[in-house]
Amino acid sequence: MKLHSWGNYPRYQTTEILFSQHKNAKRLFADYTEFIPFGNGRSYGDSALNDYVLNLRPLNYLMDFNPNNGHLRCQAGVLLSEIIEIFLPRGWFLQITPGTKFITIGGAIAADVHGKNHHVAGCFSESVIEFQLLLPNGELRKCSKQENSALFQATCGGMGLTGIITEATIQLQRVTSAEIEQKTIKTRNLEETFSAFENNKNITYSVAWIDCLTSEKNLGRSILTVGEHAANSNLKYESKKLLNVPFTLPGFVLNKYSTRLFNNIYYRLPQKGVSEQITTIDKFFYPLDAIGNWNRIYGKNGFTQYQFVLPAESSYAGLETVLRRISKSGMGSFLAVLKLLGKTNDNWLSFPLEGYTLALDFKIEKRLFPLLNELDAIVMDFGGRFYLAKDTRMSATTFAAGYPKIERFRELRKNTGTAKQIKSLQSKRLKL
Ligand SMILES: Cc1cc2nc3c(=O)[nH]c(=O)nc-3n(C[C@H](O)[C@H](O)[C@H](O)COP(=O)(O)OP(=O)(O)OC[C@H]3O[C@@H](n4cnc5c(N)ncnc54)[C@H](O)[C@@H]3O)c2cc1C
Repeated sequence: MKLHSWGNYPRYQTTEILFSQHKNAKRLFADYTEFIPFGNGRSYGDSALNDYVLNLRPLNYLMDFNPNNGHLRCQAGVLLSEIIEIFLPRGWFLQITPGTKFITIGGAIAADVHGKNHHVAGCFSESVIEFQLLLPNGELRKCSKQENSALFQATCGGMGLTGIITEATIQLQRVTSAEIEQKTIKTRNLEETFSAFENNKNITYSVAWIDCLTSEKNLGRSILTVGEHAANSNLKYESKKLLNVPFTLPGFVLNKYSTRLFNNIYYRLPQKGVSEQITTIDKFFYPLDAIGNWNRIYGKNGFTQYQFVLPAESSYAGLETVLRRISKSGMGSFLAVLKLLGKTNDNWLSFPLEGYTLALDFKIEKRLFPLLNELDAIVMDFGGRFYLAKDTRMSATTFAAGYPKIERFRELRKNTGTAKQIKSLQSKRLKL
């Protein structure tokens, strides 16, 4: 079958192995000489693709919950959405969540995902108490910050390349409401966007949509939303799909004119300055999940998400340079998301650096990759790096330049036998 991740690019001929059919771990590694774990395919590029993929979704049991301390033990194929449906009405929510709830616990650990609260709460691994990792010799290793810490640090952010995560215990946070008190701030340029972020640093959640097709005077104008869990006691939670994109749209639908039109309308929606709203957890954290199959709007060639982070001291100058280059190219992305990131953690390949991260969606077309190569060079000049979970095309040199612990990662893969047996298209391209 042809498999793809969220970007619909690349589409790759693969054979699927269902984990549940392999009760005997040793046999799994004996039967398949090379494969990659697959969660729910919400990474964008080729990190979960290879000739053989090991589908972990059948591992979907919730195993134990302690209401005294919020510790949840579950199998690795459980989706965040399944946890929310069960636990939010009972007053518990994830400590860290990305912009979609349709990812597995295994995928969340493997990418060490970050959310809108990274500047105060860090990556998903901060909420991981321990996990079980299956190695090629058939051994199941318990990993935590204290026990087998090297394996823990290599696995959180290690994109499935250090073994198969079979289950995890994570910390949930107490909430009294399924709603968010939100503040929306409309800015007119990059300078205002940065000061709005800095002035709201003490607020737990923040994210900005940036219009990346504007000219010089409005360069970097954005809509910043910040929020806190509401204090009311409304724990009613209903997950709704509002729309569905029923088929792949023709590629020409999204072009610089339609993107500019969308950006102009979207920017005009909120009132000028600052406004306040009460919204739901779904609308605040997962606005795109309400539109089923929204990835089809990019056409049959698919799309890629280009995400990089720049250190705090070079964030402003670097972003200004990148935005200017994109604006000049006319290949603007209507999904352009800017987040403030906090301290770097100890995990070897975790993406976040203290600074700002920008994520941009681009339709796959001929002139795109030369533009992205140029942007790579700018990001590297400003000391930045790129996110594996979104990548589908960067070079091994570009990747390695941003990750000083890459040699240690390669060494661990050699020593555990995972370098031989667990590989993705991405790990081969990037020589991981
Ligand atoms: C709309 C949208 C918004 C997003 N927003 C964010 C965001 O705000 N922040 C962020 O950080 N990310 C974000 N992402 C990316 C997404 O959270 C990650 O790519 C995540 O890893 C996807 O999880 P998955 O279960 O779908 O895994 P897959 O995409 O199937 O796999 C991702 C990686 O995890 C590995 N893996 C999966 N399961 C296991 C397992 N059990 N054991 C070992 N390895 C495993 C795979 O080998 C692969 O390398 C977003 C994605 C989408 C589509």
